[in-house]
Amino acid sequence: MTTKVTVLGTGIMGAGMARNLARAGFDVTVWNRSADKARPLAEDGITVAEDPAAAVAGADIVLTMLFDADAVTEVMAAALPACGPDAVWVQSSTVGLEATDRMAELAAARGIGFVDAPVLGTRQPAEQGKLMVLAAAPAGLRDRVTPVFDAVGARTIWVGERPGDGHCLKLTANAWVLSITTATAQSIALAGRLGLDPQRFLDVIAGGPVDSAYAQLKGRNMITGDFAPAFALDGAAKDAALILSAIRGAGVDDRLMHAVHAQLSAAADAGHEDMAAVIRAVLPPPENASA
Ligand code: NAP
Repeated sequence: MTTKVTVLGTGIMGAGMARNLARAGFDVTVWNRSADKARPLAEDGITVAEDPAAAVAGADIVLTMLFDADAVTEVMAAALPACGPDAVWVQSSTVGLEATDRMAELAAARGIGFVDAPVLGTRQPAEQGKLMVLAAAPAGLRDRVTPVFDAVGARTIWVGERPGDGHCLKLTANAWVLSITTATAQSIALAGRLGLDPQRFLDVIAGGPVDSAYAQLKGRNMITGDFAPAFALDGAAKDAALILSAIRGAGVDDRLMHAVHAQLSAAADAGHEDMAAVIRAVLPPPENASA
């Protein structure tokens, strides 16, 4: 029998993931708070549900890909009572360590399986089925969710068995992603203010040991002013706050992430743009126009 997968949240990430699940032959249902973002998925043979409870009824796997912990908690409060006893909840939104523990408890109280499965990768990998899934679940659940991860990702890393193990690696990796993006903005801004063409900074690191494909990508976006959201600033600022909380809990000095969080938050107030727009906080107008 075809496995039924429900995706709750069809934003930048969830829409691509749902389409790849449908392409892989799953029977896919989606729900999104703003129905206009979910409706186009019907053209891919995906069922669009009216509310979270209707969406999860009869689902084998329920995948949450919502903005933050509050959104997941709110949506699952409506969906959990409608989940069947054999359903498995795959939680892929980035929600942090404390919220992951709370969600695992909610699933246990309902008697269903819970898989902590944040992902690495942005819009394009989500659309291409090339995400990296950082998963954690008891060994007995792995076989059930592996085909789902194979459909949305290029690679699954089983980090551990405890809920939160996946998020530990996700927050560690995102600390690097957010820091390198903010540091790239700093060098682009500095080059511009010192009278250089900022492209020269990207050229001088290109191909060497301190180069990074991400710095090149986001750096080019900063120079050209292309801020179409792939990893949106509001999400980056939210993740920086989750990382700060993990850093403090782990007893690691938080000054670097504190600065990164401040820059991302300041830029996020400008709206739902890509994280590359952090350049606006690093180099406030009108100077950023010449960067
Ligand atoms: P997004 O495009 O902003 O989509 C967010 C989704 O959450 C939308 O479906 C939105 O519904 C929904 N939502 C927000 N608040 C809600 C609420 N109170 N109740 C119900 N639904 C709510 O974000 P995204 O980029 O797809 O990210 C989704 C998750 O993946 C986030 O946790 C993010 O940190 C994580 N992630 C993102 C990336 C990336 O590069 N984009 C990479 C890895 C992980 P509406 O459409 O109605 O607003």
